[in-house]
Amino acid sequence: MVRIENLIKRFGELEVLHGVDLHVKAGEVVVIIGPSGSGKSTLLRCVNRLEDITDGRVIVDGHDLADKNTNMNLVRAEAGMVFQQFNLFPHMTVLKNVTLGPIKVRKMGRAEARTLGTKLLAKVGLGDKADVYPDQLSGGQKQRVAIARSLAMNPKLILFDEPTSALDPELVGEVLDVMKDLAKEGMTMIVVTHEMNFAKDVADRVIFMDDGRVVEENDPEQFFANPQNERTREFLGKVE
Ligand code: ADP
Ligand code: MG
Repeated sequence: MVRIENLIKRFGELEVLHGVDLHVKAGEVVVIIGPSGSGKSTLLRCVNRLEDITDGRVIVDGHDLADKNTNMNLVRAEAGMVFQQFNLFPHMTVLKNVTLGPIKVRKMGRAEARTLGTKLLAKVGLGDKADVYPDQLSGGQKQRVAIARSLAMNPKLILFDEPTSALDPELVGEVLDVMKDLAKEGMTMIVVTHEMNFAKDVADRVIFMDDGRVVEENDPEQFFANPQNERTREFLGKVE
């Protein structure tokens, strides 16, 4: 589903990804952990082309993102993104937030989009919130709306960038539960998170990034029980 090969990303003179390789199969859940500033967000942003690629290759579902002929709107629609800050439109109801993408980008009819939006809000446990505005919701509810919005585009994969980092601790679980359900249903997911229990329970693979490189990669059992790299050990010692 995703093939990243020797990805280099520079912002002007500053090189922040020094040659990243990462392959993600359909249905896989890959969790990326690592210290602040190590390039995790930049990597995700390159996968749905919110950032230009300086060098190397990123192929998403067969589309080469460096190819000028690739339809970027289509690629963005196929790779949903869920951010730490939910980025909902405050002046639109919850349902409108969810149906906007299918109507504008997928050219779906309003009635069909409403039906889909209603179904997806029920799926994330917010069937009763369709007509309220985002500022009437808790952070956990807002993030679940953001997940429903992403699902409304019928993505092939979803990229999560620290989806629970802005939430009060008691609201983290409800968002992780929705993500776990998606994983069980076979959604391909790349998740940047500091939630180590989520990584242990849900990930097929855990990646440790440091200073713009993938330093270690393993299945969760091995990764946590027996980290190979000194920097991984140091990081896990701090967060666990
Ligand atoms: P992480 O998500 O792991 O905390 P980021 O990908 O946000 O790391 O950032 C990696 C590095 O890239 C940091 O040094 C950050 O300052 C730099 N960076 C990120 N975005 C930009 C940008 N738009 N312009 C310049 N530097 C950036
Ligand atoms: Mg980040």
